[in-house]
Amino acid sequence: MKISQRPSPNFDDRTLPITNLILHYTGMKTGAEALARMCDPAAKVSAHYMVEEDGRIFQLVAEDKRAWHAGVSEWQGETNINSNSIGIEIVNGGHDWPLAEGRLPPFPDVQINAVIALSKAIFKRHGELTVLGHSDIAPARKIDPGEHFPWAGLAAAGLGYWPEVQSEDRRVLFEEGSRDRGVAITQRGLAHIGYGARVTGVMDDATKLIIEALQRRYRPDQIDGKVDIQTMDVIKALTEHMSARRS
Ligand SMILES: [Zn+2]
Repeated sequence: MKISQRPSPNFDDRTLPITNLILHYTGMKTGAEALARMCDPAAKVSAHYMVEEDGRIFQLVAEDKRAWHAGVSEWQGETNINSNSIGIEIVNGGHDWPLAEGRLPPFPDVQINAVIALSKAIFKRHGELTVLGHSDIAPARKIDPGEHFPWAGLAAAGLGYWPEVQSEDRRVLFEEGSRDRGVAITQRGLAHIGYGARVTGVMDDATKLIIEALQRRYRPDQIDGKVDIQTMDVIKALTEHMSARRS
């Protein structure tokens, strides 16, 4: 795997061990623009790596340094995600640069294969990391890498967990404003998975945005922030997976 060095000044020292791998899309018109921005000291943003649409890989920040890609974020109660993660920016125009027909731009296979190879090399150096999207750790602010990102394909390649959910039932259990003991149970489940959920017993805006983040990743054809039976099954499967990993 060939990696081109393109050093960015936008980093500092880590204060935590590396446990997470955070995937982003660049959300800009071109990879060249994203690369220039991440190397601009005034922008104060960076990532460890950027993967171009044609599969070329650039390294901007050394893995033992803290790159600045996560911003205000939370996972498993930790808010200093830049310190405990490696960040990969994947070149994709995303929601700001849709195709002419309004579709989200696809991630080419050659690009995804490069992301998989790079991630596996990172796992060899640091052990298996938790694979997260920017939207998972900052659901109120971020929607990248987007519902068009091939999470199931990544999981099939050994990166991240994909829950097998049988239910096709999308009858709504809780929506915005719902107040129910089941909402508290749902929020507890989301927090157990790792999301920055607070147990309020009410389907508040923060909870709705977390549900949207979860659907964006695991049920991308319907992102409405409502807890339906199928979404609940996804939460259950992820919660059980987390419990199995911890025991
Ligand atoms: Zn991002």
